[in-house]
Amino acid sequence: MLKETIELLKQQYKFTDETISLYNQAINDVEKEFEMYDEIRELNQLKVLKAFQEERISDSHFTNSSGYGYGDIGRDSLDLVYARIFNAEKALVRPHFVNGTHAIGTALFGNLRPGNTMLAVTGSPYDTLHNIIGISKEENIGSLKEYGVKYSQIDLKNGKLDMEKIKEALISDKTIKLVHMQRSTGYGWRNSFLVNELGEAIKEIKSIRNDVIVFVDNCYGEFIDTKEPTDVGADLMAGSLIKNIGGGISPTGGYIVGKAEYVDQASYRLTTPGIGGECGSTFGVMRQLYQGLFLAPHIAMEAVKGAVFCARVMELAGFEVLPKYNEKRSDIIQAIKFNDAEKLINFCKGIQKASPIDSFVECEPWDMPGYTDQVIMAAGAFIQGSSIELSADAPIREPYIAYLQGGLTFDHAKIGALIALNNIFK
Ligand SMILES: *Cc1c(COP(=O)(O)O)cnc(C)c1O
Repeated sequence: MLKETIELLKQQYKFTDETISLYNQAINDVEKEFEMYDEIRELNQLKVLKAFQEERISDSHFTNSSGYGYGDIGRDSLDLVYARIFNAEKALVRPHFVNGTHAIGTALFGNLRPGNTMLAVTGSPYDTLHNIIGISKEENIGSLKEYGVKYSQIDLKNGKLDMEKIKEALISDKTIKLVHMQRSTGYGWRNSFLVNELGEAIKEIKSIRNDVIVFVDNCYGEFIDTKEPTDVGADLMAGSLIKNIGGGISPTGGYIVGKAEYVDQASYRLTTPGIGGECGSTFGVMRQLYQGLFLAPHIAMEAVKGAVFCARVMELAGFEVLPKYNEKRSDIIQAIKFNDAEKLINFCKGIQKASPIDSFVECEPWDMPGYTDQVIMAAGAFIQGSSIELSADAPIREPYIAYLQGGLTFDHAKIGALIALNNIFK
């Protein structure tokens, strides 16, 4: 760090000497880790480039369709580009998905029928899925449960998939139609699942029941590894375009990829039976979806580096972190345990202060739709709620864990983490 930078941080952001000294130690420790992430990024950039070239993407794909949107070549070709990148038969990439939850819900509703069971094998799914499944307090909202789709769940055993219980369930319950896995930690104190770990579990699951659909919630996971879950046998996968794969450029949207028959079923849910993915005008956003995808391998790694740095600096400051800076990652999330509501809230407020947008507002805990506990969200993003941009959120519940993610540039992620840390010291 230049002397001028340190001066500015002290003057403008009231950095203490302690913060500066923690920075110096942390940055030294993490730089050794970055080489591995640079190599993964390089491979993924090449994968994306190759897919663009193979689909012969040109200026004409950035045009604007209207009305029904029949033959929107930008939309149809982006599906093909995604399918290539994910090594999948088919993709459905749409600005019409309002978020990741919508894409996941569409995949589930599209493929489950009354009498089927959905089996979650990585423990409790992400909070917003509870309404979809029908395990939240909300009633009469059209959950899977209300449509007669049953649900069961196998909790993790020491942070790993409990293969014995999973096998037992698959053998004894013939109604299981779909197995749900979540790659990222979500609001959980656990490591994300490496793609190879998921692959091994999928192989075992398929050896018992080849007919079940293995669905992976891939939110926050894209481009963090050299492979994606669809490379190792996942049948169906979904995620958000305002996380990793949108590269900070996609203004909205979600994607579903996987086996053609399952993606088609999902598409009949997104629109209607018989119409599926063939309709839907794209409001002139296609260039952004392409450009965001092109930048995504790079941006995702900027965010990962931010998380790695944050892990180290917070650990040095005396907090428990997960994962540690030198552990292998499969998502961009950094969990920090505060054991103290005030520290947690001050950390999140610090991230807000460190944002390019809305740095002047104080974020407060609130009752967010889809979540059971109050949640505090620090997000000063160019795109509302975009969590590939530097953001932190935390359900206000013991043991007061904040989840930090994103950062369009490593410099911003790093400075943001320091401002947040400094905000706890004050
Ligand atoms: C973000 C996320 C989702 C979907 O959340 P949205 O806010 O609806 O995009 C689902 N699962 C996981 C694990 C996530 O991280």
